[in-house]
Amino acid sequence: MVSAGTKEPIITVGVADRQSETTGRLNGPYLIEGARSLSGSFHARAAASGISLFDEGGQLIADSPSVRLTAREGSTFTIFGVTIGIRFHWERKEDQTFQGNLVLAARGDGTMAVINEIPVEDYLVSVISSEMSGRAPGEFLKAHAIMSRSWLIAALGKKGAPGAAMKPGQAPGEFVRWYNREDHDIFDVCADDHCQRYQGITKIISGEAERAVGETRGLVLFHGGTVCDARYYKACGGRTENYETAWEDVHIPYLVSVTDWPDTHDPVLSEEEATRWILSCPDAYCNTKDMTLLAEVLPGFDQETTNFFRWKVEYSRAELEEIIRERSETDIGTLVDLVPLERGPSGRIFRLRITGTKGSIVIGKELEIRRWLSTSHLYSSAFVVSTEGPPGGPPERFILHGAGWGHGVGLCQIGAAVMATKGFTAPQILEHYFRGTRIERMY
Ligand SMILES: [Zn+2]
Ligand SMILES: [Zn+2]
Repeated sequence: MVSAGTKEPIITVGVADRQSETTGRLNGPYLIEGARSLSGSFHARAAASGISLFDEGGQLIADSPSVRLTAREGSTFTIFGVTIGIRFHWERKEDQTFQGNLVLAARGDGTMAVINEIPVEDYLVSVISSEMSGRAPGEFLKAHAIMSRSWLIAALGKKGAPGAAMKPGQAPGEFVRWYNREDHDIFDVCADDHCQRYQGITKIISGEAERAVGETRGLVLFHGGTVCDARYYKACGGRTENYETAWEDVHIPYLVSVTDWPDTHDPVLSEEEATRWILSCPDAYCNTKDMTLLAEVLPGFDQETTNFFRWKVEYSRAELEEIIRERSETDIGTLVDLVPLERGPSGRIFRLRITGTKGSIVIGKELEIRRWLSTSHLYSSAFVVSTEGPPGGPPERFILHGAGWGHGVGLCQIGAAVMATKGFTAPQILEHYFRGTRIERMY
């Protein structure tokens, strides 16, 4: 537990994991324990016994379970071919450059983790720059800095908890699970969207991101005596979601569904209400088509997506059967129906029955549903299903109409950016999404 008056923490970020080999370049001198200083290209190989590190001439420099390279003032390192957006529709490989120290840690199974050690505030400048453009509204960047810092400090206190968790006491054919963000063992956070997208200094660090982090240095969100596990996503779709729709059945008082607008929209309580809600286009902060603002808030590759507030996905029955067969590794026969069993207040489904001629399965929670019905991910689990086909036979087409982008729990990034353009301050934006919290300086 971190308490007030604490010094700025140093965190470890897993830049790449379970690699048999890593290649990169040291841009300036690095010190290696028990060895000489090293710079230039390097190559590392993992074996069951540890890591072998070679310099650009192919000389063996170090051979041990873990190799720590300490940066001299101003040195940076580049890792070649880092995979980003793992399993999302924007997955790609990039060379990435980082400040701070580099640790190569053997996992004992012939693979290694590539870890960056960096002070929290430097990490945050990079996260804010990676997550959005420096041209985003200033109060939005400040709100994001306080939120990301809170999430990070809350996550540091939880390391070592299990990763994928299953709902206990499930019936056969029921797959209700969720994924914790505290599931990293030998580093604090990963560099991907699973935790917070972190690309070191690969992208140009914006002066605005630096200013937003600097002006909020050490500020975190508290609820009672606890640092808030402040979650966020792209767009709620008009209402935010309860924590327990996405993760374990625990009520977290500051992660509850709120309307993303000054007037209240009723929570979704029935299938009729879900249909009415999702097929409508209500007023909401994240209901925007302001392309200039969206370009400022979303990193370049996310602009491939513009219909996030209300969206539509269509499959032939054969296509969807194939996706489900691959995900479930079960043959349910001919796909007959998709039946929402339980929804949260934003309309997000957290238990869904997939009915086939040979049997049916029940899946949850929201992320699992998004994965099982798409070759990558559906934008959200807030959708209604309609089908087409001749009467009496199985459907020929499945049409999903959906709302929002992401799990919906906590802060709506696009909504928060719109609030900032309407003149709301960072504390007002945080109070809107995280009710009953307060901002305090921790260091
Ligand atoms: Zn992670
Ligand atoms: Zn929203």
